[in-house]
Amino acid sequence: MVGPPTAAPAPRLADYLATAARDGTIPAGMQSVDSDRDGTEGNPWALDLPPGGWYRGNLHCHTTNSDGRLSPQETVDWFAGAGYHFLALTDHGKITDPAALDGRGMCLLPATELTATGGELGASYHLLALGVPARTVLPPPSAPARESVAWLHQHGAVVFVAHPHWSGLTVADIASLPSGTVAGIEIFNGGTVLDSHKGEAVVHWDEGLARGHRWWGIAVDDTHWHSLDRGLGWVMVRAPECTPAALLRALARGHFYASSGPQIRRLSVRPEPEGLLLEVETSPCAIIYALGYGSRNQFAVDGEAIARGERGTTITTATFHVRKHVARVDGRPCPAPYVRVQCVDWQRRSAWSNPLFL
Ligand SMILES: [Zn+2]
Ligand SMILES: [Zn+2]
Repeated sequence: MVGPPTAAPAPRLADYLATAARDGTIPAGMQSVDSDRDGTEGNPWALDLPPGGWYRGNLHCHTTNSDGRLSPQETVDWFAGAGYHFLALTDHGKITDPAALDGRGMCLLPATELTATGGELGASYHLLALGVPARTVLPPPSAPARESVAWLHQHGAVVFVAHPHWSGLTVADIASLPSGTVAGIEIFNGGTVLDSHKGEAVVHWDEGLARGHRWWGIAVDDTHWHSLDRGLGWVMVRAPECTPAALLRALARGHFYASSGPQIRRLSVRPEPEGLLLEVETSPCAIIYALGYGSRNQFAVDGEAIARGERGTTITTATFHVRKHVARVDGRPCPAPYVRVQCVDWQRRSAWSNPLFL
């Protein structure tokens, strides 16, 4: 069994940041995301967040440095031209150095997609590692995922498990990774939707959340430039500024939502005596849902858990009364009640909020 390289001791986050700042990859100032929880996790609309902006980014794409058809610069050029604010170049097992590229006004995150072993049914993991300095020594693809993800986390990477359904990973596979080392999973991967229609993993997400795993959900392209695999899925990150450090910290804390089309323009969360009042504003949509684990009738909403436009009309607002005490599955309390908002437009494209834990 081959483990991650051990020639260099794993640096602490502060050391990593100092190195990254020297290398020009990540400005100093990123703080430990483990030590600064303030109750806004998963909610980029929280009023007590510092002023900032909303930034659109694709976190998953490939270039000629792995199995993509366009060069790194051509890849950057396309996303900049499409109006993106940031991009992670995630070549397989290789960090494409952003410092060698003209970002065309975008913020480029040093990143990679790492293969690792250990799925209970024999599947390999693909791990999106965001924020790894260009010269980081990476674990080999034969390394067990538990070791690789711990290595990446120790090196300051924000890690998401890529396309679980396409890979054949089970929820247990994701849950078996060391606690706190994984920020979340891809719930929408445009490339594998086109490739095999196995690009969605909301079922994995909901089960993991109900089991108490605090996984954020990202939508990505996984662009290879083989087909129409770009501009299909993205994240909208709220951060104080569009820099690698600020974006990575926001991603780690769930200060974003995922989309394949619609916008979630506002999500107001206010306490009520027995739960939460959610008020949602979206771009024109067909349906807005408040979702938890289990079927709709067993869900933690007092009143309607769905708002819809009838006969082709659109809606842009919904109000939900979420009740913790009715968060039950077949009459029994949900182990880890949560609520998330999803809106769907008439083209069946979605935007997904991150979960709010009750
Ligand atoms: Zn992959
Ligand atoms: Zn990929």
